[in-house]
Amino acid sequence: MPTIRIAEPSDIDACVRLLHLLFSQEHEFVPDSSKQVAGLEMIIGNPSTGTVFVCESEGRIVGMVALLNLVSTALGKKVAMLEDMIVEPALRGQGIGSQLLDYACKWANENEYGRITLLTDGDNDAAHRFYETHGFSRSSMVAFRKFLENDSTGGTVMNQTESKQDKPEMQAWMCEECGYIYDPAEGDLETNIPPGVCFDKLPGDWCCPVCNGAMSQFKKFESQL
Ligand SMILES: [Zn+2]
Repeated sequence: MPTIRIAEPSDIDACVRLLHLLFSQEHEFVPDSSKQVAGLEMIIGNPSTGTVFVCESEGRIVGMVALLNLVSTALGKKVAMLEDMIVEPALRGQGIGSQLLDYACKWANENEYGRITLLTDGDNDAAHRFYETHGFSRSSMVAFRKFLENDSTGGTVMNQTESKQDKPEMQAWMCEECGYIYDPAEGDLETNIPPGVCFDKLPGDWCCPVCNGAMSQFKKFESQL
């Protein structure tokens, strides 16, 4: 029976692993473990910044979601930005995402937050349905943003013009047998594939580094909850 609880510093490694999956599938982000650790350390154990919730099943962290703190002058209340919602691919469709989201919403309500806002990829219909099912409604507001110069990376956050939407070769593929995800941004150390090799360009005899399954058992990894 999966249980939901607030994350502790010892959960950071497991959360980084989940974020890696999330950023592999979102159009605008690529994973970078050191940044994900830095970000999680800013939240976990620091309730003024926000709260991370994790789902633990059989001693393993299999899902997470974060609520980041903001203030609404319109509501005169604390409000939250929901981020980093992810469930381990092999365990999707079992209601873990719903459990996490319900828990976070209930917790926020009990802690006097007035509203929760979130962003999704524009074409992620599954996510839109998921959030609508849980009482979220689509806002007519449009997100704008500016990446600041002190973020010297160009790494984790890709510029809008270079988003994965325009780079189909950055498509991640998932092994249907074991849930392993091949992400071109990362390559695969195990089989000596450097970062930047798209799935179509893998050697013909390449197989899943986890279960040795053939490439034919991989499916495009679409974002879903
Ligand atoms: Zn596999």
